[in-house]
Amino acid sequence: MKFDIITLFPEMFIAIKEEGVVSRALKKSKISIREWQLRDFSANKYKNVDDKPYGGGAGMVMQVKPIRDCIRKIKDQEPETKVIYLSPQGKPLNQQLVEKLATFESLTLLCGRYEGVDERIILNDIDYEVSIGDYVISGGELAAMVLIDSVSRRIPGVLGNKDSLNDSFSNNLLDHPHYTRPESIGGDSVPEVLLSGNQAKIDAWREEQAIKKTKQNRPDILSN
Ligand code: SAM
Repeated sequence: MKFDIITLFPEMFIAIKEEGVVSRALKKSKISIREWQLRDFSANKYKNVDDKPYGGGAGMVMQVKPIRDCIRKIKDQEPETKVIYLSPQGKPLNQQLVEKLATFESLTLLCGRYEGVDERIILNDIDYEVSIGDYVISGGELAAMVLIDSVSRRIPGVLGNKDSLNDSFSNNLLDHPHYTRPESIGGDSVPEVLLSGNQAKIDAWREEQAIKKTKQNRPDILSN
């Protein structure tokens, strides 16, 4: 999977490039990440890429031309790339969408700032508008990192074979509880079944717990 990122803050991506699953995926060449500084596509000497909103109001809006020129340049190299605008107004990024995005060879991630991008970009230049949740953050970079991490986990060979089998949302359930050593701490003990060595019983207990947790915290996904 190739990720091309359009951003005003390329340095932010060091966070995932140097630590954790995404960094390991990069080292194994399962993914590549390339940042594009949007200011390099500005036509003016101050390298501005934003302007005041028509109709008035607070904040600035990211202009069409630098974004469109940058997308065109990426498409010269990756004609099949799917362009995603990270936006609180987008469709929710859930596991189903993550699985779908993981099937593409190339994703271009447009990170907004200020009040977001000129609507004509959304209407003409974007394949998906994707939100990481019903809240507003200050820029698309953190959202892009969430998307890159969640998609990278689904690329064969990035995780160990079974690492994500029981992950939350993979069977319309949340994950089961996990325990590790010591067996007892502060009067709290590990459930006995996990020490029984009986794998069938352990599996049944885990499923029961996963259903219980899902009913409690996310009944909406259980009904799916
Ligand atoms: N005025 C916009 C609105 O209310 O819909 C919010 C703009 S926000 C301050 C700046 C940028 O952060 C957005 O263009 C988008 O790229 C990113 N962003 C903010 N919240 C997001 C979310 N929940 N999911 C994905 N991206 C988000």
